[in-house]
Amino acid sequence: MDYTKQRNKMVEHQIKARGINDERLLDAFRKVERHLFIPGNPDQFAYADGPLSIGEGQTISQPYIVALMLDMLNIKPEDIVLEIGTGSGYQTAIIAEIAREVYSVERISSLAKNAKELLDKLGYSNIKIQQDDGTTGWKPENESEKDITFDAIVVSAAAPYVPEGLLAQLKDGGRLVLPCGNRYVQDLICVKKENGKIIKENFGGCQFVPLIGEQGWKK
Ligand code: SAH
Repeated sequence: MDYTKQRNKMVEHQIKARGINDERLLDAFRKVERHLFIPGNPDQFAYADGPLSIGEGQTISQPYIVALMLDMLNIKPEDIVLEIGTGSGYQTAIIAEIAREVYSVERISSLAKNAKELLDKLGYSNIKIQQDDGTTGWKPENESEKDITFDAIVVSAAAPYVPEGLLAQLKDGGRLVLPCGNRYVQDLICVKKENGKIIKENFGGCQFVPLIGEQGWKK
């Protein structure tokens, strides 16, 4: 199986063809080996144009959706990014390629553990993973993280509303992207914080697994 060829095709036909042109982002998709993040390593599906099961009732998002959300965030090389819903760790790796640091929170311990092991094995040194409920944000692990805020926040599971805990950890001038709606269908929302004011923009329909936690769905 020629994975490099498949990845290049994925970028051309699924991502670029749908209007995403940020070369730094496209390069990250050309580089990160998506097949390594899918349990059972299903050759023929790893670069397909859709979500895939990663166990525990969870999914790795469609490549285009990952690209769309990260494109909306406009991540810069110096940015510190918070991701809620590590899942397989695939999106975490893409962010690690384009940002300074990624802090990622996953609720399910087996997924958090597997993602951490794989990302460590791949040599990423700018990723921190926390096993916890991410709806209230990153829980500081030491004194230097006490009042941590982020340039960009991406939520990979569907929220009933924008969690206050995440807004509190968004830097002024920062952006937060999340799917928001009911448990079955949502809209992709981009929230900007400008001079303390919150501005929301709707980018249309999507479907994600539920965000479960204190400021999400209760089970
Ligand atoms: N970006 C991931 C997608 C994972 S699916 C990938 O590339 O694989 C969404 C993930 O959000 C699931 O793993 C789910 O367990 C997790 N999740 C749901 N509620 C959460 C919460 N409150 N805090 C952290 N993670 C949560």
